[in-house]
Amino acid sequence: MNTSYNPRQITIGGHKYKIVYKKDLEDFGSLDVDKKIITIRSGLKINDKLDTILHEAFHACLAISGLSYLIDDENKEEALVRAFDSLLLPTIKKELKKTLKKQQN
Ligand SMILES: [Zn+2]
Repeated sequence: MNTSYNPRQITIGGHKYKIVYKKDLEDFGSLDVDKKIITIRSGLKINDKLDTILHEAFHACLAISGLSYLIDDENKEEALVRAFDSLLLPTIKKELKKTLKKQQN
């Protein structure tokens, strides 16, 4: 498996977010909404890295859309993002794999 997945930038809703990697980060990832920086713990396995980037990207979506202000509660926002991580994201990945396979044929 390709382990060289280390994106340095991601675009979310037209906004560019810098991705930086840091040793000894307490969590797998974090998001600085104002600076538009996603920090990822270095040394994560490729799947954990992708999941963490997408997790932080979803937090960024909530911030950009303004929905963070409606939720206005870190725990509620985290619950929403984790529901997306564990329920919708696996379905998206699975369907994406199917379409990528079809495109190769
Ligand atoms: Zn989170």
